[in-house]
Amino acid sequence: MRRAGRVVADVLALIEEKLAPGVTTAQLDAIAEEYIRKSGARPSFKGYKGFPASICVSIDDEVVHGIPSSRVINEGQVVSIDAGAIWHGYHGDAARTFYVGQPSADVTRLLGTTRLALMAGIAAAVPGATVEDVSGAVEDVAVEGRCDIVRPFVGHGIGTRMHEDLQVPNYRTGHPGAVLEVGVCIAIEPMLALGSADVETLADGWTVVTKDHSLAAHFEHTIAVTENGPVILTTA
Ligand code: MG
Repeated sequence: MRRAGRVVADVLALIEEKLAPGVTTAQLDAIAEEYIRKSGARPSFKGYKGFPASICVSIDDEVVHGIPSSRVINEGQVVSIDAGAIWHGYHGDAARTFYVGQPSADVTRLLGTTRLALMAGIAAAVPGATVEDVSGAVEDVAVEGRCDIVRPFVGHGIGTRMHEDLQVPNYRTGHPGAVLEVGVCIAIEPMLALGSADVETLADGWTVVTKDHSLAAHFEHTIAVTENGPVILTTA
């Protein structure tokens, strides 16, 4: 999983480098797929429930699952990239949101809050903690940053399958949920919006957007719960 995670981290760094006005989302996808395959891994998203590409590219009010296409990236856009790779049967899954150009104070708050919410969730994933501890840590940062939490999509267990049974909500459910034992691997992935986080899925069957078209961000890491605490697997 460390190897798979490194491939995913590299892909996100590569996309960050290539992300500029004029590039199409399909070009970003091609760059990602080529890198994943060259690394001896496979793109886990491609063909997953029929998803046609290796990364998700979600722009502005799109929250997650945007499909790469001939759409051109422009200055002033919020661009969320989600990537997944399988290396020798093991999965890595991570996402980051970028801004093309100089972000406003509100965009800086959205991206910063979402990233911090992820890091707080990771820090809470110590052995013996519950899923609710992670969820609460994410929620507290989101509230502090005055961002709304997208609720229908949650983090998940991950390992030899991209989505394993454990669910990791980005808000308190009022139930402790599973205890995080040493060896558990989860993907934590807060999705936050500047306005209302009520979402709907577009007619393409994939792209999730905020109903009020407010900007959204998505940060995700795959982590392992170890005796020494949480370890981020999707890092270089
Ligand atoms: Mg995920």
